[in-house]
Amino acid sequence: MSQLINGKEISAEVKAEVAKETAELKETKGLGVGLAVVIVGNDPASRVYVNNKKKACEAVGFRSFEYALDENTTQEQLLELVDTLNKDSSVNGILVQLPLPKHIDEKTIINAISPDKDVDAFHPVNVGHIMIGDYTFLPCTPAGVMRLIESTGTDVAGKQCVVIGRSNIVGKPQAMLLLHKNGTVTICHSKTKNLKEICLGADILVVAVGRANFVTGDMIKEGAVVIDVGMNRLENGKLCGDVEFESAEKKASFITPVPGGVGPMTIAMLMKNTLTAAKKQAGLI
Ligand code: NAP
Repeated sequence: MSQLINGKEISAEVKAEVAKETAELKETKGLGVGLAVVIVGNDPASRVYVNNKKKACEAVGFRSFEYALDENTTQEQLLELVDTLNKDSSVNGILVQLPLPKHIDEKTIINAISPDKDVDAFHPVNVGHIMIGDYTFLPCTPAGVMRLIESTGTDVAGKQCVVIGRSNIVGKPQAMLLLHKNGTVTICHSKTKNLKEICLGADILVVAVGRANFVTGDMIKEGAVVIDVGMNRLENGKLCGDVEFESAEKKASFITPVPGGVGPMTIAMLMKNTLTAAKKQAGLI
């Protein structure tokens, strides 16, 4: 039987740290912290994420500025808004909720966000910083995963770490963060051969595939730390991860549930990045 890693509790700790520091900044320096969230169109999942981010801003004492734009907004209009937000000193962080409608090029929009306000850490400048291990903003989901691993008391150094998934927002930066902590990292993807064999060698297994119950207990090494990044909506409306929880928890030493694992950490880390952005812009770090 494994021990559950409680993402709700750990994310609450992170948010409490952010709230405390935000209140201190206000009191001692008169400095407020603001996050602008931009959503284009009516994607219901995006709407839920944006609402959760707004709630988190309120909880930690940030101002949140929401820009809900029509599905037919042009790329030029969105670029204009980003430019305005880049210049607005009350906005410390800018988040453009992805995915964007098909007629808008995501790369062009991400590249237009000032790297100093890019609290998602998607801008190529920030991606470069992540690569060399010299960063202001940690990518939110992978940073949340690192905090969850840390909470288990596991030292990553020297461990066999396997990341399934190589997306720019999860898999690749996750692998880099584990590498910076001196893990021996293997990245797997859809063309990987012998996935089961590779997973069975993992002391730390991070799964970010986007397929319900993709990893089963027979792919997990006895005593491994298993982090499930996946968020899949089943036909019955229930949320489920990429790891088959029932069989996996019999093998893992620690495991994250879905929901209540990585999900809440991503938002907490976004709050942390926004606070960092505000401090950096005020010349405090
Ligand atoms: P993505 O961009 O679709 O990437 C999925 C990755 O899985 C790809 O690298 C793909 O390989 C790999 N893959 C697909 N089939 C595979 C197979 N049979 N064997 C091995 N690898 C396979 O997804 P993502 O954005 O990284 O997200 C992954 C999951 O995490 C999704 O469920 C998403 O909803 C969730 N997520 C959760 C949070 C959170 O806050 N909890 C945040 C972000 C994402 P190829 O590169 O070869 O195609």
